[in-house]
Amino acid sequence: MCEPCTELDARLEAVAKVPGCSRAAVHAHHIIPRSQGGTDDPENLVSLCAAHHLHGIHGGRMRVTGTAPDKLVWEFGLRRSYVAAGARNLDIDASGTSL
Ligand SMILES: [Zn+2]
Ligand SMILES: [Zn+2]
Repeated sequence: MCEPCTELDARLEAVAKVPGCSRAAVHAHHIIPRSQGGTDDPENLVSLCAAHHLHGIHGGRMRVTGTAPDKLVWEFGLRRSYVAAGARNLDIDASGTSL
């Protein structure tokens, strides 16, 4: 789990959230987990509704990488089995579309 994910800070209100999501963004998610050296800086945080955060990202169905707020890379429709089986392809796609 992304244990330091916190309630949304006021400074994050303008940060990009999930494309097409109209629910209130009440969670802050660390793009790079703090356990892997991520920081609390705004470029490492995205605001998400609870559903996208807990069921989407932490449920393994979607992924966000890159740098907030304008260089985020969203990946949707992931499934655990697909992530495991297609990890090599996903990595290629991610590097090809980011930055
Ligand atoms: Zn999180
Ligand atoms: Zn959402």
